[in-house]
Amino acid sequence: MPATKDYWPLVLENIRGSVKDSAYKAWFSRVEFVKTSNQGRKIILSVPNSFSKKYIESKYKQGLLDSINKYYPQVIHVDFSVEQVQDDEQFVQQTLTPTHNKPVLTPNSSKKPKLAFDVFEADSTNEVASYLPKKNINNLNPKYTFENFVVTNNNEFAANVAKAVIDQPGQIYNPVFLHSGVGLGKTHLIQAIGHKMLENNPSYNIKYIPMETFVSQFQIAVRKGEMQGFKNYYRTIDLLLIDDVQFISGKESTQNEFFHTFNSLIQSNKQIILTSDRHPSELNGVADRLISRFNSGVTVDISKPDLESRVAILNDKIERLHLPLSDFQIQSIAQKVDTNVRELEGILNKVCAKIKFSPGQNFTDSDLDGILSNSLTSKASFLPAQNPGAATERIMHAVCRYFGLDKADVLGVSRQRDISTARQIIMWFYKYDLDLSYPAIGRLFGNRDHTTVMHAANKIKKLYASDPKMKEKLEIIRTMLAKA
Ligand code: ADP
Ligand code: MG
Repeated sequence: MPATKDYWPLVLENIRGSVKDSAYKAWFSRVEFVKTSNQGRKIILSVPNSFSKKYIESKYKQGLLDSINKYYPQVIHVDFSVEQVQDDEQFVQQTLTPTHNKPVLTPNSSKKPKLAFDVFEADSTNEVASYLPKKNINNLNPKYTFENFVVTNNNEFAANVAKAVIDQPGQIYNPVFLHSGVGLGKTHLIQAIGHKMLENNPSYNIKYIPMETFVSQFQIAVRKGEMQGFKNYYRTIDLLLIDDVQFISGKESTQNEFFHTFNSLIQSNKQIILTSDRHPSELNGVADRLISRFNSGVTVDISKPDLESRVAILNDKIERLHLPLSDFQIQSIAQKVDTNVRELEGILNKVCAKIKFSPGQNFTDSDLDGILSNSLTSKASFLPAQNPGAATERIMHAVCRYFGLDKADVLGVSRQRDISTARQIIMWFYKYDLDLSYPAIGRLFGNRDHTTVMHAANKIKKLYASDPKMKEKLEIIRTMLAKA
């Protein structure tokens, strides 16, 4: 009797017969059988990277199961294990390298009849493929407008630049590079620009795209052999708003494409606005030529709001929300929450909830104290309940991403500055947010001595208290963790 895995090549053959060659090569040729479990009800397959997993799950789930069921009739559930042998960026690079004459992504020209399975495939005949939002979809969030953006002295310059750009798009400041720590209104402001420009020029092709989305779209375009469509799409935009550009770090081929998109738009006087969590010169893992482009227009930052600005922002929001807070209460929020606007909003949300769930009762100063003290001391609140292994991986991943490093770098022995800082930061998170012991942390770093870990965690702890730049970095990483 054949072993269960012996049927797998038959499944692949079946898939090969039902999807286009290009799709088979791009998505299925490297899917391998791992095992079946649950008395054959579940099949586990390995895929080379998380990108393949996501793509197969979103486009081919049912079709794949149908093919599997021809040979494994009991299977009702497909699970993927992701081999990290190759990350998405490496895959894209390999695919783009001309010396590789594997026709992995050549658009399919064979005239195979359409089979049922094809319905799971994105329509690649469409000039603008479905992973790129349609022309009239700009992704702007209606809640981010100028009307509710409070101009205070910390964002005044940014707001003025925004107004100049709206009056004369593509003429004076191009690109605009807006940077700040988290929660200080970058996303709000660039989307407000988008809304205003659309109001002034309803026929404008405006796109708001987080850089992470641009990276994925580019990777899909490469895989599907649709680079021409991708280029056309991005080079016919009138106003391009790219949020969180730091996510391009380490993605060399995306950087290359973005560089050309950027130049092409600037040359045709189309306005580009970029945001980032840091100044261009501090972007790690980004090509110099791109950094110099980022610096070639105007660079603006939004600093943290001072007390007076925080009061102004709170007043504006309180009025909109019709919250019955006294001046004293507003002052005490503004005094205690000095980090960013998102945190101020967080407190107001809690106030709202408290009022809503205690109808007929006054909102007292001690209610507010309760909210404030809980909010300011919550530890590891950025990590949803999960097993410690997943939490350590998440932290590792976020810190590496921030610094544009590989996990192997921080686990290795290099003492290069960024690498050792990243390593120390990870140790600090493990110690203070996950409560792991020094020896346990040492073991996670290839059996390092616990005194090394102690030294590292203490160093970051001190810097957190004394060095605003370090504090800001750690806060950014925290936010990345909360979003991850
Ligand atoms: P960032 O992109 O810099 O991390 P966001 O734009 O997401 O920050 O802002 C965080 C939250 O704070 C959003 O809900 C936004 O509406 C609000 N916010 C930030 N700055 C202001 C401001 N000046 N006026 C009103 N709301 C603001
Ligand atoms: Mg943002």
